[in-house]
Amino acid sequence: MTIYLDYNATTPVIPKVANLVYKMMVDEYGNSGSRTHEFGITAKRAVELARAQVAQVVRADKTEVIFTSGATESNNIAILGLREFAETNEKKHIITTKIEHKSVLEPIKHLQTQGFDVTYLNVDKDGQVNVNELKAAMRDETCLISIMHINNETGSIQPIKDICQILSSHEAYLHVDAAQSFGKYPFDLDNPRIDFISASGHKLFAPKGIGALIMRRRGYIKPPLRPIYFGGGQEKGLRPGTLAVPLIAGFGLACELAQKNAQKWCIHAAGLKAELMDSLRTLEAKFNGNNTSPYVLNFSVPGVNSEAAIVMLKGIVAVSNGSACTSSSYTPSHVLLAMGLSQEQINGSIRVSWSHQTTFVPSYEICQIIKGLL
Ligand code: PMP
Repeated sequence: MTIYLDYNATTPVIPKVANLVYKMMVDEYGNSGSRTHEFGITAKRAVELARAQVAQVVRADKTEVIFTSGATESNNIAILGLREFAETNEKKHIITTKIEHKSVLEPIKHLQTQGFDVTYLNVDKDGQVNVNELKAAMRDETCLISIMHINNETGSIQPIKDICQILSSHEAYLHVDAAQSFGKYPFDLDNPRIDFISASGHKLFAPKGIGALIMRRRGYIKPPLRPIYFGGGQEKGLRPGTLAVPLIAGFGLACELAQKNAQKWCIHAAGLKAELMDSLRTLEAKFNGNNTSPYVLNFSVPGVNSEAAIVMLKGIVAVSNGSACTSSSYTPSHVLLAMGLSQEQINGSIRVSWSHQTTFVPSYEICQIIKGLL
């Protein structure tokens, strides 16, 4: 049976989580907005428990959590939702990086067409943002800095703590796309300087179609986000629409399980990574990215094309050559391009990602197959 090694694309749902989702769909199916009967009250209770479970991951208050359909929607609400504030206050400058996910880059690009000025920070060959470059880019009229925590393609971990430090004397809002780290990598996201955090359920063993935007208050003051669409006023009016109670309950439980186990999960993942790296060194593989997540390895073997390797690895391991969103297209990764990798290294790049559920990475077999292509 093929071993699934594409956890950065998505994760299976933990059976306990799936059981809860099922129960909330079949037995406790009330609308959390129904105040007139116990079906609604039971659903609302489940939502509020989940809100607390999500908040706990980053030590936020439960009232600071907005449920969304996933990190794409959270990113859009955080970025486009600040537009009115930025325009009214003449703060139409945004800073982001060249390696963000498209769900950050595209809404920012949209604002750029609407008269916003955008600074795209570079990354070095290891995929790291330089905090001095951020410092130099800051202006009085900067309203938003959007920097991801862990990159989905390379796993590079951005220096969130240092970024928070640099921003300590500035009022600009800080948004962190934490789709790849929320709950799994329990560091830095509890920093109170982070105003917005985007999370995704399906990267954390909950179902697809659920996520959250955490919006921290500064003192008692809520961030000035405005809705980007309108409806029944749910989720403080920022994400109107009937709440997906079963998915929310499942996401909450997944967060609680992750929070309890993340340290252990990271140690297990780091062990798998070290073994795979050792094997790949025998092929003189180049590792794309440094200071990376324990859950992923992006590498290229000189002389090997990733498409060919992935075809040969089919049936043994399920891996990818970039983000799932772009792996169906042949456009070279904007992340690897930003890191200044050679065309050969980009064409050869293979992403392998795993989790606490992975018991075994067949490193020897992977290396033998790749060797056959040399
Ligand atoms: N940001 C990052 C870093 C991601 O990896 C992903 C998923 N590939 C997203 C955002 C989008 O998340 P979702 O699938 O929940 O919309």
